[in-house]
Amino acid sequence: MKLVFLGPPGAGKGTLATLAKQALNLPHISTGDIFRSNIKEGTPLGLKVKKILDSGGLVPDETTIEIVQDRLRKPDCQGGFILDGFPRTIDQAEALETFAAPQAVINFILADEIIIQRLSGRRVCKNCGASFHLENLPPRREGLCDQCDGELIQRPDDTAQAIQQRLSVYTAQTEPLIGYYRKKGTLKDIDAQPQPEVVLQTLIKVLKA
Ligand code: ADP
Ligand code: ZN
Repeated sequence: MKLVFLGPPGAGKGTLATLAKQALNLPHISTGDIFRSNIKEGTPLGLKVKKILDSGGLVPDETTIEIVQDRLRKPDCQGGFILDGFPRTIDQAEALETFAAPQAVINFILADEIIIQRLSGRRVCKNCGASFHLENLPPRREGLCDQCDGELIQRPDDTAQAIQQRLSVYTAQTEPLIGYYRKKGTLKDIDAQPQPEVVLQTLIKVLKA
């Protein structure tokens, strides 16, 4: 199954993809994770995109499309995939149609206030990338990762200013994809507010329907 997770930042696409990849036995391809690991490793791509990610802007389509196309060619994606964070523009969506048209596009729906609450309270492990939340999912020990004892930090793009930027980029560039895929008949709406396990059950039901 070729699946796309669409939705605003903070809707929980990454969290859900982590749960769904086990439930559906599909690889989880996150463009955000690919960019962040390149930044961490200091690769040429990482150096090129660091400032863009920190400010909450979008990496140029040409770069992003090439990375996704290469990744989807790998053997683990031949039986399908979960694409998380791609496409984010109409041009990216048009490109995806030419090499791996999605069968279902999940539209995660969440109110702006909740998005801001989720993103501003998010803390991630510097070491293993595990994600926590000051109120919704606090770590057992303050400032430390439950999994690996690593230091918990705020993502540079989770500051108030970058959050505003990501939301306006979402509205201008990504939201039009909702209409694009609705017209194609592949869009499936999901309420992203409940607990992740509940959203997962809804997702599985929606995919069977
Ligand atoms: P979130 O969905 O929480 O905003 P992601 O981890 O999906 O975070 O993405 C983080 C950042 O990576 C984005 O703000 C953007 O700079 C970059 N990025 C990710 N996917 C794309 C994409 N498809 N096109 C352009 N830039 C992207
Ligand atoms: Zn950790």
